[in-house]
Amino acid sequence: KKRIFSGIQPSGELTLGSYMGAIKNWVALQEEYECVYCIVDMHAITVRQVPAELRRRSVAQLAQYIACGLDPEKNIMFIQSHVPQHAELSWVLGCYTQFGELSRMTQFKMKSKQHADNITAGLFTYPVLMAADILLYQADLVPVGEDQKQHVELCRDIAQRFNGVYSETFTLPEPFIPKLGARIMSLGDPSSKMSKSDPDGCVYLMDKPEEVMRKFKRAVTDSETAVKYDKDAKPGISNLLTIYCAATGKTLEQAEEEFAGQGYGIFKPAVGEAVVELLRPIREESQRLMDDKAYLESVYRAGAEKAGRIADRTLSKVYRKVGFVAR
Ligand code: ATP
Ligand code: MG
Repeated sequence: KKRIFSGIQPSGELTLGSYMGAIKNWVALQEEYECVYCIVDMHAITVRQVPAELRRRSVAQLAQYIACGLDPEKNIMFIQSHVPQHAELSWVLGCYTQFGELSRMTQFKMKSKQHADNITAGLFTYPVLMAADILLYQADLVPVGEDQKQHVELCRDIAQRFNGVYSETFTLPEPFIPKLGARIMSLGDPSSKMSKSDPDGCVYLMDKPEEVMRKFKRAVTDSETAVKYDKDAKPGISNLLTIYCAATGKTLEQAEEEFAGQGYGIFKPAVGEAVVELLRPIREESQRLMDDKAYLESVYRAGAEKAGRIADRTLSKVYRKVGFVAR
């Protein structure tokens, strides 16, 4: 069976962007692949976190993964900091990554603008830790949103370099990006991506129906009236159409036809309602799971144990190849 690895930072509540860009595919892939889905708390501390919040969100994120349809019996689900091999391999891979390569990463450039007062080495080496996450499990596919494509490509480059210096060690991973929903844009500013650290523009999976409706009714559009997909001229409406289609399973053509001749005043709440219906069962199931902390604990403990066994095999190989003495 081919293997999959992916993760999301508990740096904020899960959003519709992460759902449509990543989690939706995770659910689809769990039947055919051996999947490893992680809560990447070590990535989250590359920007400052409130400790109690980070702890709560890490467990809540697991509840939400399960509520989205990921089966803990079929997938390995765990918390990154519970498997120390991630940090260990990350150190080694950092010694096979160029300063210049990391300097070219778009996410680093963006985030170092957002957090100009706290540009840490961790923020800079984030893609190295991500490469370690993926390579530890010899993943074939990495289902992510468009924004992470560059990091997966860097991961391939690092893997290829390491394999070249020593011998075949790592599987070269491919990014797996959805056709629809790979880049959900902010509802407040359709020129930037929806991100969990931007509460104004994003819809959280746990938002109540009223909140979801309010956000969609206020979504920024344009001064025309036609519900038509045109990414450059009508980024707001195009984003709403994408969300509508990803939520309902309809095609863009079907959606355009459905709203032909109807104004934004009808279209925006209709998108809101589609999202409310998509999120309702997810929200309810997450809340139910959050009342069963013992169950969640058993899932992430078992997950870390299984993940650790796979990670150990890769790390031992790597340590031997680079010339470390066996312990
Ligand atoms: P942060 O602002 O802290 O970086 P984020 O919302 O970007 O948070 P991540 O944990 O960085 O969330 O990303 C989780 C996954 O969701 C990744 O696979 C990423 O590509 C995907 N993703 C994030 N935002 C979007 C989006 N707006 N559209 C589609 N996919 C997205
Ligand atoms: Mg991100």
